[in-house]
Formats: sequence, structure tokens, C-alpha cells
Amino acid sequence: MKPTVKCPVCGRGMYLHHEYKYYISFTCNNRKCNHHLKQLRPAAIDNPSCENLFGKISFSGHRFNVNTIITAINLYFALNATTRAISNYLLDYLKIKVSHVIISKWIKKFAKYFKSIGDKLTKSLNLDDSDEWHADETVVKIKGKKHYLWICIDSETRFITSWNLNSSRESNCAFSLFKNAKKFGSPRSIVTDGLKSYNFPIKVIFPDSKHIVVKDFKDDISNNLIESFNKTFKSFYKKVKGFKTFDSANSLISNFIFYYNFIKSHSSLSGLTPGEVCGLEYSHQDKVDWFVKY
Ligand SMILES: [Zn+2]
Repeated sequence: MKPTVKCPVCGRGMYLHHEYKYYISFTCNNRKCNHHLKQLRPAAIDNPSCENLFGKISFSGHRFNVNTIITAINLYFALNATTRAISNYLLDYLKIKVSHVIISKWIKKFAKYFKSIGDKLTKSLNLDDSDEWHADETVVKIKGKKHYLWICIDSETRFITSWNLNSSRESNCAFSLFKNAKKFGSPRSIVTDGLKSYNFPIKVIFPDSKHIVVKDFKDDISNNLIESFNKTFKSFYKKVKGFKTFDSANSLISNFIFYYNFIKSHSSLSGLTPGEVCGLEYSHQDKVDWFVKY
């Protein structure tokens, strides 16, 4: 059955002009109007990697005390300590013997659990009033092979609205990135570098947002936004020394971004987290409880 669409300009019916992979284009039946419309086909767009996580959803069934696990995860993400340093610390100060290998398993294992907390918190988050979102890709290596971490970040709150780890820089990755970000609304404008893969996805997914292309983020006034994320990410990435598998990279990045959005106090946000600046309500006690109530 042909989809029926009403022309948003003149109110008459529109006919299906062409079915593309990610959207359907319609043209108005009214010759004088001749309005064109692109209707997204969200089901045809792959989910970004941030939606495809593996691993445990709870802390239960562990032979280690949950507090030990939490302490290790905290030291790793909040203080950027290495798994070896954490292993030494646990032994020297808490007399708990845990190998760095086990610790490196812990920091990846609970990605699904943290994500479910993030999803609950942001269920009714609406960023429709946002002035600007920035999208960017950072290079990471998995087994020595180049991959790109695509991120979309709200400039005022620094909240990361979506991310996608992929080996490609093609527009299908940007489609996936923005399909996920769209659940938080549409900003007035989206700033990207000159990568052409952004052009079409932004036009189709955010038809009312202005796409601002900057040659280099250094030319942009708000470049310190992406810079500051990249700086934090790079010091984390440097410690990781390259990822071994796609799934472990994806889990680690997921937990890193959970920390970035909900736990880490940002000095540029007067000590608040991006989530708190977005108006999400949770207390310090909640942060503690996310780890303890499992
Ligand atoms: Zn029309």
C-alpha cells in the first residue's frame, strides 16, 4: 500500500516520488505547490554501536565484593588510573589481591548495566531548545586497524547525545549517529567539519536545523567544546594503548561516556556533570546507589 502523506505547505496529498535506502521522497500533487518532502525510514538505518552492547546487566554472582569492583571501576574512569596501578593499590591499601587482568575485565563487563541507568535517566530528556550540537570523529585503533569514534555533543550542557564506533567514515555511520541523537530533539544548528558524510543525514534527520560546516574546529569559536572532549578521551585512550577487539572497545567507550555524562564533574560546568546541567535529577547518593544496588 502506498503511504499517504499530506503536504505540509498546501495540505493536499503527496505522491511517492522515490524510495531510497534511508528515506522516501514525496512530491506534492498540487503542481503549483510542487513541495518535496523526505520521510525518514528509521528501521532501515542500523543502530549505532552505543546501542549494541554485550555483557552483564548486574553485579550479582561475583566472588569479589561489589565495593572492590566499584572502587576499581571508579579509579579507572574517574582518576584515569591504569589497571596495574589499581591492582597494586588494592593490594597495598585494602589487602585485596586482584590481578590487573581481572580488573580489566570488570571495567568492560558492566557496560550494559550502566547504559540501562543512563537510558532510564534520559527517558524524558528533551534538548529541543539547544542552540548547537557538534558532531566529530576521533580515530581509534582496534587490533591496529583504524576506526572512528563518532560523537554528537550538545554545546551548552556538554552532554553526549549519541556516539558510534565504526571502521567507516561513510554517511551510513552519520545516519546511525543522528538517528539515536534525534530522540533528544532537534537543535537549532549542527556544527561539523567538512566531512561530506554529514551533509545528507543532517538534511534528512534534522530538516529544520541549520548545518554549519567549519573547515577546522580551530576556526570555530566553540571549538574548545570538542577539544575538551577529545582531550579527556585521548588521555583515557593513551592509557588503554589500543583496543584488542571491537566489542571490548565498544564496552570500554560506553562506560567512559557514561562517566563523562553522569559521574564526572566538569570544571567548565561549575563542578556539575553534563547530565545535571541538562536538568536530570540525581544526587550524589544516587551515584553511589547505582553501584551498590545491583
Ligand atoms: Zn503542496
